[in-house]
Amino acid sequence: MAMELLRVAVIGAGAAGLCAARHVLSRPERFAPPVVFELTANVGGTWRYQERVGPDVRCSMYKNLRTNLPKEVMMFPDFPFNQQLNSFLSHQDVRRYLEDYCRQYRIRPHIRFHSAVEEVKPAVVTTEDGENRTRTTWEVTACDTSGCRTTATFDAVFVCSGHYSEPNIPSVPGLENFKGQVLHSHTYRSAEPFSSRSVVVLGAKASGIDISLELAKAGAQVTLSHRGPPLVAALPAEIRQSSPPVAVQDDGRICFQHVAFQDGSVRAADVLLFCTGYNFSFPFLDGGRLGLELEEQLVAPLYRFMMPPAFPSLVFIGLCKSICPFTNFHCQVQFALGALAGSPALPSRAQMAAEARLALQKKADGGAARRHLLVMGGDQWEYLAELAADTGFAPPPPVVRSLFEEVWRQRGLQPDSYRKLNYRLLNDTQWQVVDTA
Ligand code: FAD
Repeated sequence: MAMELLRVAVIGAGAAGLCAARHVLSRPERFAPPVVFELTANVGGTWRYQERVGPDVRCSMYKNLRTNLPKEVMMFPDFPFNQQLNSFLSHQDVRRYLEDYCRQYRIRPHIRFHSAVEEVKPAVVTTEDGENRTRTTWEVTACDTSGCRTTATFDAVFVCSGHYSEPNIPSVPGLENFKGQVLHSHTYRSAEPFSSRSVVVLGAKASGIDISLELAKAGAQVTLSHRGPPLVAALPAEIRQSSPPVAVQDDGRICFQHVAFQDGSVRAADVLLFCTGYNFSFPFLDGGRLGLELEEQLVAPLYRFMMPPAFPSLVFIGLCKSICPFTNFHCQVQFALGALAGSPALPSRAQMAAEARLALQKKADGGAARRHLLVMGGDQWEYLAELAADTGFAPPPPVVRSLFEEVWRQRGLQPDSYRKLNYRLLNDTQWQVVDTA
């Protein structure tokens, strides 16, 4: 008897959703063509730059952003970027790349644009094979722009809705006293409006540092305020570093706003710019029903950082942070599709739950705060290698890790100039610098 094809819903047509759709389509013997639900009118997700900001704009890119990974590392392992491009790309380059990927793998006909997923609900069905076995199906309700709601049933759902759209703004006592402009990097587009103003940038991760450099070049006086020890990076003199704010003081007599710092200094500022990252948000899921804790900085427990043990046919792609994103999507998607098709076989629910808990416990034992439990960093390579070995696809070659780590190191030392280098992969283990851009 012919095997019934599995029906897969994919939420989102960004890099992760396109990757999921591409691999579903590559296995027509096991999977029906996917249905990709996409909120907007386009593919590319966060790489589709929008000048406009507003509650309905999910884009978190800024105008002059260049990638912080070279294309040789950033690419999907089976789909190189255009050879003519420099290693570090504009957001337009990445958008075009994702459009090419969509074209190459004929994904577009399977995307329902302007289709916002509002609810994903598990339903238990009993199979009619005489053995009374049960399996989970998923009811996915989506709404189009005219307000018309439809519900369809699937065997699996890939959650590829991204997690860089909901700004995380840590609480700063007295913030309401600040009389200048408060914004988050989500709505920052360019430095020009801030030239000759004094800007306190909160957070010194990739965006905080990049934006501080842009602001300094545009003539702003920048205070880069962060928790860590002083950065060793070569920063221009216009950027001074500070510890995090403890409060904004109320001082109506002075025309400049004041920001109080833990080191005791009180400084004036026109602008407070939060580069403090993003929160998870899955309004279409009911965490309690799925046995999941859905927090702003954590989704747990997830087997292999992807699947709720009680509902392994619900798959989160790309949740972890400090990863090589496209490579991660490529590996996670193949593991998950393999598991749905029965190879690799998943352990029992109890074993998956125990393994998921253990993975987080290891991170906590290593000193990670709860909000950092999904930060992968150096652990990502072993993780990807295990997914590959269990499923039987080729793991990312060692050269990807080697170049990723080299660029990470360069970024720490020379945040303003590391993108001038161009790289070439020579083989599976070696890369070289080819010239300076
Ligand atoms: P997204 O690109 O966010 O796509 C999610 C899609 O889901 C969107 O199209 C959205 O409209 C859709 N969607 C959301 N909710 C729903 C719903 N309910 N119903 C239907 N559709 C929905 N990565 C790198 O590799 N290199 C870099 O240099 C790099 N720089 C970055 C710089 C910034 C400022 C940011 C914010 C991110 C950067 N990233 C970088 C990470 C980047 O997020 C990933 O590369 C990748 O694009 C994430 O893809 P995604 O598909 O998971 O999410």
